[in-house]
Amino acid sequence: MRFISADYLYTLDSKPIKNGVLQINNFGEIINIFENKTDIIGQNIEFFNGLLCPGFINAHCHLELSHLHNISNSVNGFSEFLAIVKKRDKYSKDFIAQAIRGAEDQMIKNGIVAVGDICNTIDTLEVKKNKKLHYYNFIESFEVKNERSNDAILKALLIRDVFRNNDLKATITPHSAYSVTPDLMQLIANVSDKFDYTFSIHNQETKEENILFNEKKGEFLYWLQSINASPEIWNNRSSSSSFLNELQPKRIVFVHNTYTTFVDLKDKYYCTCPYANLFIENKLPDYSIFSSDNLCVGTDSLASNSQLSIIKELALIEQNSDYSLEELLKIGCKNGANALGFSMCGTFEVGKTPGVNLITGFENSLANSSVEKIV
Ligand SMILES: [Zn+2]
Repeated sequence: MRFISADYLYTLDSKPIKNGVLQINNFGEIINIFENKTDIIGQNIEFFNGLLCPGFINAHCHLELSHLHNISNSVNGFSEFLAIVKKRDKYSKDFIAQAIRGAEDQMIKNGIVAVGDICNTIDTLEVKKNKKLHYYNFIESFEVKNERSNDAILKALLIRDVFRNNDLKATITPHSAYSVTPDLMQLIANVSDKFDYTFSIHNQETKEENILFNEKKGEFLYWLQSINASPEIWNNRSSSSSFLNELQPKRIVFVHNTYTTFVDLKDKYYCTCPYANLFIENKLPDYSIFSSDNLCVGTDSLASNSQLSIIKELALIEQNSDYSLEELLKIGCKNGANALGFSMCGTFEVGKTPGVNLITGFENSLANSSVEKIV
């Protein structure tokens, strides 16, 4: 049993507690939260300078792309980035596996406890079986030709079931509105079952996506036509979110939202990956439109980021928004846990096992802060 205290305890369930104390058992479960250390008699209290917050939730990652780290420092737009991702198979299985292990170690060191992870393969299975982190595995499906929809869903089902058979959460999810036909979207809806808590979709990452749906023209249209994509993709949809009528998800996390405007917003979760946005598009979302109640944060993969660190992402959001420190921590912890259904994480509440991070150097801004995993 440990009693852990710091200058501030950000429970994210109630107001921050100055000099509050967490009582935690050997399994990381919160047994009690004390407002005052004087309430505790005859126990050794570990005191830290800084603030304590729950473990971070990385709401969007592609762990299986970790080996594409450092191929380029930045790219000029989305199509150049896709060229990097297309090289993913040109590496040995050992090299890929080693990069995945290194990336997970980095996340653990940076105080991340749970991940919403996009999977096109089972490359990450071996690491995930060790259960060092909680993973929500989004088995990503995409296909732009109607006649291949069945093949696409069968491939995704095989991968989903491998994860599920290893006692890992897995849901088949659409890659994006522009890369999934209405046919395939219907199949994704049809195979969804009670084990699917939520979905995740790349949304409005480029302005070309908006031009495709709103104006039926532009680079994406030319590209899709050049590969003989089924025109229902853009003809049946008037915006990036029109697919909601097809999939009808209870919950979904819209990821990126770099070109999302206030009128586009739905009553759903939104995830921002600011460093990846700068890497790929050199543009950030307009944070003034997002509520701090349903915005979460992800790192995206090491193919488009130099690190997997939520505190670094929060520092970048802070520089480009008006969120308070408490709101930023909610974005980094509580909202991602809610969005992905990790009910044991995200806040300090009795009975939860959220992990404990110590943040130091946060007084003026998060820019020079650092994180240490305490539990
Ligand atoms: Zn992504």
